[in-house]
Amino acid sequence: MKPTHIEHIGIAVESIETARKFYEQVLGLECYAMEEVPDQKVKTAFFRLGDTKIELLESTDPEGPIAKFIARKGPGLHHIALAVENAGEALAEAASSGTELIDKVARKGAENLNIGFLHPRSAGGVLIEFCSK
Ligand code: ZN
Repeated sequence: MKPTHIEHIGIAVESIETARKFYEQVLGLECYAMEEVPDQKVKTAFFRLGDTKIELLESTDPEGPIAKFIARKGPGLHHIALAVENAGEALAEAASSGTELIDKVARKGAENLNIGFLHPRSAGGVLIEFCSK
């Protein structure tokens, strides 16, 4: 499954409208896409840095995973997404080595990528996402 690079870093924010100013005005990055992902109850905004992106995540539902994350830990680093050849196969491979999964099978994420999450309990407290085209 060997990941090729960090596809993106997901950051939980209370408001994309407010948070994006730091990325645009301080870091000089350009938001090239905004997308709502109803399945995950989030709005997303993407900034590109070479092969990697920063994904800002704003909850669209107080019961959504990002709203719950912010209630527990406050805004900030939420997950790291690794690019793999095939997200579904990478999940199965991780499961076969005893890794706890959040997603047993890949699903559609932002930017129409196939995605799936590993449980942070199995990854040193880090929420890891696999991504493939
Ligand atoms: Zn992500």
